[in-house]
Amino acid sequence: MRTCSWMSVAALMAGALTAAPAMAKTVALSHFTLIDGTGRAPVKNSAMIITDGKISWVGPAAKLKAPAGVQVRDLTGKFVMPGIIDSHVHLGLVDGITQDLKYYTRESVERQLKLYAAYGVTSVQVLGTDKDEIHDIVRDIRADPAGRARVWTAGRGVVFKGSYGGVVGLPAQVATPAEATAMVDREAAKGADFIKLWVDDEFGTIAERMPADISTAVIAEAHKDGKKAVAHVFYYDNAKELTREGVNGFAHSVRDRAVDAPLLSAMKAKGVWQIAATLSREASFTYDLLPFVDDPFFSRGVTPQVIADLRNPERRTRLSSSPTFPKYPAVLKYAMENFGREAKAGIPYGMGTDSGPSARFPGYFAHWELELMVKSGITPLQALTAATGSNAKFMGATNVGTIAPAKAADLLVLDKDPTADIRNTRAIDSVYLAGEQVPTIWQTCTGRAADACTGGPK
Ligand SMILES: [Zn+2]
Repeated sequence: MRTCSWMSVAALMAGALTAAPAMAKTVALSHFTLIDGTGRAPVKNSAMIITDGKISWVGPAAKLKAPAGVQVRDLTGKFVMPGIIDSHVHLGLVDGITQDLKYYTRESVERQLKLYAAYGVTSVQVLGTDKDEIHDIVRDIRADPAGRARVWTAGRGVVFKGSYGGVVGLPAQVATPAEATAMVDREAAKGADFIKLWVDDEFGTIAERMPADISTAVIAEAHKDGKKAVAHVFYYDNAKELTREGVNGFAHSVRDRAVDAPLLSAMKAKGVWQIAATLSREASFTYDLLPFVDDPFFSRGVTPQVIADLRNPERRTRLSSSPTFPKYPAVLKYAMENFGREAKAGIPYGMGTDSGPSARFPGYFAHWELELMVKSGITPLQALTAATGSNAKFMGATNVGTIAPAKAADLLVLDKDPTADIRNTRAIDSVYLAGEQVPTIWQTCTGRAADACTGGPK
């Protein structure tokens, strides 16, 4: 409902000779417990005014002065937090659980962004597998999200020729520091918000990881272009070297051994972030059948065909007989323990899932990730802060991540207290994107008719 104060009606009438001012759209929310994304303790009996998609006032419900004619939505018993930010995703890569870059279209990207929003994930950061079309989509969303989660993108990430990283079909390989430098400049010029690089060899199955002279060149050029450099890492040794080279963030945990005091103190000294621990990624590889296929919060976000494909005995045999399958329990254990050690040591961290590739599900994985982060030794409030204010801080996303005046009204309204039990992030009452309610996963099945939903109600 569009509402006008008398003031703006008068201004509108008087303003006929000048430019007609747009009517402000105002929404007021009251009597909720506020979790503001800064890490501050929740504040009961809070209220908020949203004007034209932005938070214009937040404070105690007793001091709420809603403009005349604005209906106040009473959220007694509910919890309001900033929309979740997933700092590590890939968009548009799959149809069901089949992965192929040919599925990357504006339509498929936007469909996924709406699914993220339905799960309360109102911003995502894409780590290096975007086609160039992303920059047009990002511009459109920045002007008006229209139900789509906001996007920050690395464009194409830098892959060392023949080594691990990127996606098949998207040219992103460099062989020399000069090629790396040129590629970084190209991505920055196209509009990349930051630069991604991969340093890995897939359990030693690939001959060479990106050499240090190339990662050094990538990081230095990113900084010259005013961008942060974010690295895919697996090995402790690479994390140490990249820290020395000035990398800004790690997009995965170290997963080959325990992090130790020398690495932790180097990361701290250089200000390196663990932007994503991707615990849900490692956990997903640990099972031949994902442990949540029957959970309606999951199944409502996918087609019945996806459930059937996940249950398919042939797929499960193929997965469980792969040589990497037995490695993942240890990989997950290192990822969780190392994340816990970093948090304890005061390394800054965000929340990211690496969802988007086959069987790593947009939206649902963010909630699973939060749960696994808490299992790794942080509090629910710390996990929520990582996924909101901290992610925004690393991304330089000044308009999202916290609840304060002038921030975008990207909100997740919950029926239950997520600081008491992190799984309560799933009790989604409503989601606001730029002040507009969008269909939640409990209200929609990713845009399909309700009778096509696999899962039941909450
Ligand atoms: Zn990734």
